[in-house]
Amino acid sequence: MCGIVGFTGDKQAAPILLDGLSKLEYRGYDSAGIAVRNGESDVEIVKAKGKLKVLQEMTNNGAAVNGCCGIGHTRWATHGEPSSLNAHPHASDDENVVAVHNGIIENYQELKEKLTKRGYTFKSQTDTEVAVKLVDYYYKKYNEGPVDSIARAMTRIRGSYALCVMFKDYPGEIYTARKDSPMIIGVTDGETYVASDVPAILKYTRNVY
Ligand code: GLU
Repeated sequence: MCGIVGFTGDKQAAPILLDGLSKLEYRGYDSAGIAVRNGESDVEIVKAKGKLKVLQEMTNNGAAVNGCCGIGHTRWATHGEPSSLNAHPHASDDENVVAVHNGIIENYQELKEKLTKRGYTFKSQTDTEVAVKLVDYYYKKYNEGPVDSIARAMTRIRGSYALCVMFKDYPGEIYTARKDSPMIIGVTDGETYVASDVPAILKYTRNVY
């Protein structure tokens, strides 16, 4: 179980995500990644195996990734080897749903088989990609929006998790859910932060939930 940081507001997200993830480095991790969106444009996902420094260099400390809404993750592999492919964020094929996840989905194999029968394919070995595609499945099946599709997925997922999710149809918004894994939300003037642990966002706000 490792680090999650999310940001949406008026500032550039990528430098904030990388800074926040650096505050969670003490937890140990094997890879890192960010997904950032500039308004309604397509989400940009950058991932790298190894230290956060690699991701920082790839993105010029975040300056190369434009947008004010994003999620970031440092991964401690539980399902699948440490690699840039298995690193988070994971996305549905059409990038309708993009998410990062801490924790373990115990019944991921069973869910993966069900989703495969419904036409989903999987690029990574992670349990996380299964959760992403399950949310996407419910989102499209019931057309009830982000909260209900995450809630439906949560009723099917067994295990512990903290999730941060972005939806193509909801630019500038981040949805989060958790069960037996920590996640906090920090709010300040027009800006919202999400993190799996306080040090990641302490510099920006002490107004946390
Ligand atoms: N189970 C997930 C994976 O292996 C998340 C691990 C974590 O908490 O970093 O990708």
